[in-house]
Amino acid sequence: MLLFQPGSSIIISKPRVEGEVAERSVLVVEDEENLLEALRYNLEREGYLVHTATDGGEGLEMARKVKPSLVLLDIMLPTLDGFEICRILRRESEVPILILTAKGEEVDRVVGLELGADDYITKPFSIRELVARVRNILRRTRHLEESHLSAGQQQHFRMGALEINLNSHEARLAGQPLNLKPKEFDLLALLVSNKGRAFTRDQILEKVWGYNYIGQTRTVDVYISWLRDKLQADPTTATSIVTIRGVGYRLDG
Ligand code: CA
Repeated sequence: MLLFQPGSSIIISKPRVEGEVAERSVLVVEDEENLLEALRYNLEREGYLVHTATDGGEGLEMARKVKPSLVLLDIMLPTLDGFEICRILRRESEVPILILTAKGEEVDRVVGLELGADDYITKPFSIRELVARVRNILRRTRHLEESHLSAGQQQHFRMGALEINLNSHEARLAGQPLNLKPKEFDLLALLVSNKGRAFTRDQILEKVWGYNYIGQTRTVDVYISWLRDKLQADPTTATSIVTIRGVGYRLDG
């Protein structure tokens, strides 16, 4: 494919895996116009359809309207800040969110994860690194979608009082909704659909957060402890997440 860059010669884009980024759209919410344009240029060059917004309110509206495959979200924004947008979007959808933070507004990793963001990158960042992160997150969500939807695969699991439906993204304990964060759901889905199989923390990071995820394995422990709390809300459930010393975790039930 040939692309023209204003005021320069022809750029020949590198070959892509067929269909890999087809119809994938990215919403960039960023009030620094130069950065916004640089992101737009580079993401379009990668084959993504790019939507942009320069203030928070507009960004939220745009996210609801275009339903992007991924949101790149600045924190300090006019009208509505990135934290607020992240909280609102998380209640409404499972769109992956990559937060762009400036130095000095460093987001504590766990706080970021509690908001439901998938990853964050600190400014100044290399555009190449950012595009790689975007690609990885989208590749991972695509794999999750495909593995959830592949024909013949079991979509509904019941273990004692625990019920999980991969299609409708619902998890219930003794009939009551578990209200899991998206990553908690993905983690539980991984363990439930591989009942009795042990996973290392690195394997869990790779499968749930994507292999290039910058978080440390401590993130897995935090999520496991949240899941345990929620699963233990009903004392009659026989399901438990077992810690395997020196290895990782396994779901028994
Ligand atoms: Ca800003």
